[in-house]
Amino acid sequence: MRTRTKVCGRIVTINKQTGGYEMPEAKLKVILLRHTPNPEETISMAAKLCYSPSDIESLEKKISSGDQKSFIGKLMKMGHMSPIEHASFTFAIEGISRACSHQLVRHRVASYSQQSQRYVSEESGFDYIIPPSVKNDKKLKKIFVDFMKKSQETYNMLVRGLNESELKGEAANQDARFVLPNACETKIIVTMNARELIHFFNQRCCNRAQWEIRAMAEKMLRLVKRVSPTIFASSGPLCLIGPCPESEYTCGSIKEVRKKYRIIQ
Ligand SMILES: Cc1cc2nc3c(=O)[nH]c(=O)nc-3n(C[C@H](O)[C@H](O)[C@H](O)COP(=O)(O)OP(=O)(O)OC[C@H]3O[C@@H](n4cnc5c(N)ncnc54)[C@H](O)[C@@H]3O)c2cc1C
Repeated sequence: MRTRTKVCGRIVTINKQTGGYEMPEAKLKVILLRHTPNPEETISMAAKLCYSPSDIESLEKKISSGDQKSFIGKLMKMGHMSPIEHASFTFAIEGISRACSHQLVRHRVASYSQQSQRYVSEESGFDYIIPPSVKNDKKLKKIFVDFMKKSQETYNMLVRGLNESELKGEAANQDARFVLPNACETKIIVTMNARELIHFFNQRCCNRAQWEIRAMAEKMLRLVKRVSPTIFASSGPLCLIGPCPESEYTCGSIKEVRKKYRIIQ
């Protein structure tokens, strides 16, 4: 039996048998918002300029898709990666935890805009991410969800208390947010060039990467492969193009991983 009620300003479902309640849980969403128009042609023009006496006018003349494939293939093989930087991709991402976004922003050759916990109040109820390992265990899930509720209540008490003092609005939010958990859902826009993306996929599609950022990286890879199949043809964990670099920490599933990423689209 389930009933619906209001907790911390949000409608939640109470399971009458377990006494547990379910607050809104966020779902991973990745959209490729924008990208350099004709990314493979743009990169091929940069490559053509490096290796032929072309002037700008002849550069702009159409480079056939066969030539683009061959130019990009050669660049990758030689490790001449700077022309690959001329194509950029902008993603809108939501339904990830702050634990995940913290890992994402460690990638420095990128631009980020993240929803602020200072300007955007969480008083009406924050969404959160539950790790599958916790979600699949009824007892652990209840402990987790109870903590989310407690965190929400404490945050709301702090916001209200601070608003009664000299701190107001964003000043109150920015101090109250100290009690929000890593599980808190966030939204972020990220732009990376293709070279950085390849590096990002090498690190974050690997089975050694944390499950949430791996799931996000995989979605990003599928999206860019649709618009730039040649640039990202061999993208994924490093074991796709060579031996596993993780030595004793290897996941031990190199065959399965290679198979998965060779057919991913
Ligand atoms: C499985 C895994 C476990 C991790 N564990 C930890 C951990 O325990 N603790 C922790 O702190 N981090 C950890 N990280 C994060 C990791 O250390 C990097 O910060 C993150 O992966 C970003 O990668 P990066 O620095 O290569 O690349 P980016 O910042 O994306 O930069 C791309 C490349 O540009 C070059 N570059 C960028 N900035 C500089 C610079 N300032 N100087 C010289 N070259 C530069 C480098 O060649 C770099 O590889 C982990 C990452 C992974 C994938």
